[in-house]
Parts: sequence; C-alpha cells; structure tokens
Amino acid sequence: MKGLKSKWDGRLPRKGFLIVLSGPSGAGKNSVMNAVFPTIPNLKYSISVTTRPPRLGEVDGVNYFFRTEEEFDSFVAQDLLLEWATFVGHRYGTPKKYVQEQIKNGNAVIMDIDIQGAAQIRAQMPEAVFVFLLPPSRSELAQRLNLRGTDSKEVIKHRLEKSEEEIEHIIDYDYFIVNDDLGEAAERLGQIILSEWSRVSRIDLKGLKCLWKGGAEPERSKKN
Ligand code: 5GP
Repeated sequence: MKGLKSKWDGRLPRKGFLIVLSGPSGAGKNSVMNAVFPTIPNLKYSISVTTRPPRLGEVDGVNYFFRTEEEFDSFVAQDLLLEWATFVGHRYGTPKKYVQEQIKNGNAVIMDIDIQGAAQIRAQMPEAVFVFLLPPSRSELAQRLNLRGTDSKEVIKHRLEKSEEEIEHIIDYDYFIVNDDLGEAAERLGQIILSEWSRVSRIDLKGLKCLWKGGAEPERSKKN
C-alpha cells in the first residue's frame, strides 16, 4: 500500500483522531498494526498501562507500561487515564496525556483496547473510529493462543470464553476486518485509516486555505 507519501497530503493540517482497535486476544491486533505503521507516518500508537506481568520478550515502555496495582490505583485516583478496564484478572488503561497531545498535533492515534474500554471511549469521543478485528474462527483462535505459548492453559481457556462475549459487541463498531491473511488484514486497516483521514470533517479549513493560496500541490503540478 502506498500510504501517506504525497508531500501535499503530509502538509495539509488535520484534526487528529483516534482509532480504537478491538478484537479477541489472539486475533492478531499487534501484528496487523505493526504492518500498518510504516505506511502511515502520521499514525501513532498509544501505549497502555497494565498490571499484567510482562510476557517473554515484552519491554516496558514499548509493549506496555508495566505497573503495580498500587501505581495503577494512583493513576486512576489522579484521573490520568482516558479509560481503563479489568481483563482476565488484570487492569489495563490508556494514558490520557499522550492521546490528547497527539490529537492536538493533528496525528491519528491507534489504541488496542478491549470492548469495555472501547465503550468508554465511544461515550467520550464519538468522532473516534472503531475497528473490530476478527479471527477466522474459534478453533483458529484457540490454535493461535496455544501456539503463542505465552499463557497458561487456564488463561487461554478464560480468554477463549471472553472472546464469545466480545464478538457479540461487534455491532457497536464501525468496521470489521477478518484476520485470515495478515497482509490483507493490514492492507484493509490501512485503507480504513486513510479513508478516515480523507474525511472532510477532519480537515483544518484554515490550513487548507493557506496551502491553496500558496499554490498548493507544487509536487503534483510539477509531475503532471
Ligand atoms: P493482552 O494481555 O493480551 O496484551 O491484552 C488483553 C486485552 O486487554 C486485549 O483485549 C487488549 O485489547 C486489552 N487492552 C490492552 N490495553 C488496554 C487498555 O489500555 N485499555 C483497555 N480497556 N483494554 C486494553
């Protein structure tokens, strides 16, 4: 996918916005997102805070901010989280400041959060974009969770049970993507983000007028 490489497009100021990506644990949200980042420069990732212990290979400040229950309590008490929820025994939340700053700077921010967190965002920011990533089937999901080898049998069972409830909530989302083929799923997510990026409601009109008056699209007119 070409992504946002046009210089003109990059110069046009936008109102930043939020993309909420949900889907059962093991659906491949991280892999799909990681494939999209190189194609869209103005796309930022919101790193969540969690009380879950790190899995093998996970790095603090990259995958999550791994914090104690007490630290999480303090974030909640200070109202530092945009949303938070308990998922299979651990708490997860979105730091408010980062998201607000990125949106203010006109960036698109993607966050991987569960259905409870998505409901909280929907109530606060109805202009956000809600995308649900589906694994092709329950058995495929079970196989992926087992192959990942990062969770105990008990946790996998719990996460699979949870997926039944999560899928019921797909109707609350704007878009769905089936992650049957990683490349195709990433392409689809990129297309959704770029379409949303092209909404007239996301344009900063002053910025557009400024570019227009200054002889916008110099790169394109040279080529044509
Ligand atoms: P995992 O433990 O597999 O990394 O994540 C478990 C679940 O927590 C996933 O469904 C993921 O989307 C969700 N999650 C991750 N970060 C957040 C967050 O900041 N807020 C909420 N509500 N859920 C999150």
